[in-house]
Amino acid sequence: MEGVVDFLSDLGLSVEFRGDFFDFLSLGAGEMAELESLLRRARVFDIERPVDFHGASASSEPFEKELYDAFWVQRIFSRFFLGKHPGELAKNVFHAVITGRLLGTYGSRRYHARVIISGFPSFISTSGLVEGPARPREYYFLKAEFVRSGRDLAELDEAFRGKFIDYGDERITKIAGMYVLQPLLYNFSGKEFCENSKCTLFNSHWQKEVLDIQYPGSLCAECGGEIEKIAKGQ
Ligand SMILES: [Zn+2]
Repeated sequence: MEGVVDFLSDLGLSVEFRGDFFDFLSLGAGEMAELESLLRRARVFDIERPVDFHGASASSEPFEKELYDAFWVQRIFSRFFLGKHPGELAKNVFHAVITGRLLGTYGSRRYHARVIISGFPSFISTSGLVEGPARPREYYFLKAEFVRSGRDLAELDEAFRGKFIDYGDERITKIAGMYVLQPLLYNFSGKEFCENSKCTLFNSHWQKEVLDIQYPGSLCAECGGEIEKIAKGQ
């Protein structure tokens, strides 16, 4: 978090790190139990079906990965957030939560892992960085081959090491900082992504793009100007 805060501060933005989000919410035992029960309802059970939040609680095993419906998670947290800090929405500020939880949105008949969810609050998911952008095409071909022949997938990951972001990857800090800028820009200017494939606000779909574009982290002149305006409060 220190690295992310430093990166944003270096861009001239005024940043306040408020510590652990749960500590910041300081929920009582009853509220905590309610929050946990709501989060369980937001969990994805079937990757090909949208979460039925108000339906009967699912009896089947959830999807192998701990994946949550991003919009339900956002709604749940925004309710608790505003319940505890009602003045926050009126301030001319932007709120970002950096989380290790895996968040997905439903579209084209299945859930897709997301790196960012814009809104109040915005989320940047470090697990989404690993699971969202696609790995090299050859990786998937070889993976199918490995699964067929019963070989250890760790061997495959080893062969592709460095070509995609993995859990515990030290590059995540810098890349997470870059990704805070996307919902931030959207919040203040309505601009979602940048078309310039050299700009860190480009909408990357591949791991290679994230490593080539977000990791070096340069802003195009136009986006740099926008961020500067936001920093000056204009
Ligand atoms: Zn740009």
